[in-house]
Amino acid sequence: MLLEGSCHCGAVVFSLTSAHPYPYQRCYCSICRKTQGGGGYSINLGGDAHSLKVRGRKQIAVYHAKIRPEGGRRAHTSSAERHFCRLCGSGLWLFSPEWPELIHPFASAIDTPLPVPPEHTHLLLDSKASWVEVEARPGDKLFDGYPEESIAQWHERLGLSR
Ligand SMILES: [Zn+2]
Ligand SMILES: [Zn+2]
Repeated sequence: MLLEGSCHCGAVVFSLTSAHPYPYQRCYCSICRKTQGGGGYSINLGGDAHSLKVRGRKQIAVYHAKIRPEGGRRAHTSSAERHFCRLCGSGLWLFSPEWPELIHPFASAIDTPLPVPPEHTHLLLDSKASWVEVEARPGDKLFDGYPEESIAQWHERLGLSR
């Protein structure tokens, strides 16, 4: 489906095609929570990088997360590019140079009505803040770290690829 998105102030407007648009994957890591998941998590969708069209590109800034390993040793910088609007701070999408075909828009930036997922995957629960209540329903899958199942594989398992 075609996904249309924007930041809150409207300086950045974008669109892309997505075969994997269900917003089922809730990430509780500190990067997602602090950068744009105020309720405790953020949601990434799967999209086609080549289809991305952007208006207002010069207002986009990129954050490479600093990741500090357990035990406080030296932080390293993530290769993943978290694109956001430099004017209003809205998170837009994540792009990893390791997977150049893929782009992961944040569900929060999408204006197109998204389909409601029949089940959710909750991940990085070992990074969850103490005050965050996980709203897991029967059938949901919970992981301390990352699930093995990719966004594409989740859609295929449930017969929801389009
Ligand atoms: Zn903006
Ligand atoms: Zn995360």
